[in-house]
Amino acid sequence: MDTIKVKAIVLSSADYKEKDKLVTLFTIEHGIMQVIMKSVKTQKAKMKFAKEPFCFGEFLISLPSKVITGANIEDSFFELTKDIDKFYIGCAILETVKTIVVSGEKNVELFIETLKAIGCIAYNGVNDKYVLVKFLLSVFKNMGYSLALDKCSTCGQKFIGKRYLNLDFGEIVCTGCKSGNCIEISAKCHSCFKILSETSYDKLNTIKLAPKSEDEALNVLNINFERRFNKKLNLL
Ligand SMILES: [Zn+2]
Repeated sequence: MDTIKVKAIVLSSADYKEKDKLVTLFTIEHGIMQVIMKSVKTQKAKMKFAKEPFCFGEFLISLPSKVITGANIEDSFFELTKDIDKFYIGCAILETVKTIVVSGEKNVELFIETLKAIGCIAYNGVNDKYVLVKFLLSVFKNMGYSLALDKCSTCGQKFIGKRYLNLDFGEIVCTGCKSGNCIEISAKCHSCFKILSETSYDKLNTIKLAPKSEDEALNVLNINFERRFNKKLNLL
């Protein structure tokens, strides 16, 4: 029997058998892993805190049984559970990861981005929706669907006037290149993408965008997400 050590974020946990939990981990080393925590539902259980979503730390996993034999939690991001809005946005981030990361396939870049995003919601006193917009923009980039911020994806000219999201390809194009299945994106929303994409998580609390631009941004990103990954996110 082998034991492996992984760094991971708990994405979700569900009841399993009488006293156990089936925990979905996003690990740096192996992407998503489904593991078992034994007897964690009892009050005295040593690892009962390690099964909660958002927990980040080191886990020891016994193979091939996939039973967790040890956990050293570095941060539980407990702050996220105290505020319902923060909690929902945090859950949307974990849900996004669960949807796009393939089991067993590592994605270090997305792991780091996820950790930064949930840390930012928990501790930085930011508009939570800004964090989610920034996170989703990075998800599209990570999955090979970068959204054009300065120049049209098709002709490469700077954007002047109207711009559109082409739903067939997940790209932002100008009026001249608009074709097929497109939705218009307001300049305010596009500017929200650009600013959030170019501002680091630790500086997000210093910016203020046009009112409601983050709502339009989330709506557009949600539509794009559904088209790219066949899943609707419950964002708003
Ligand atoms: Zn164009």
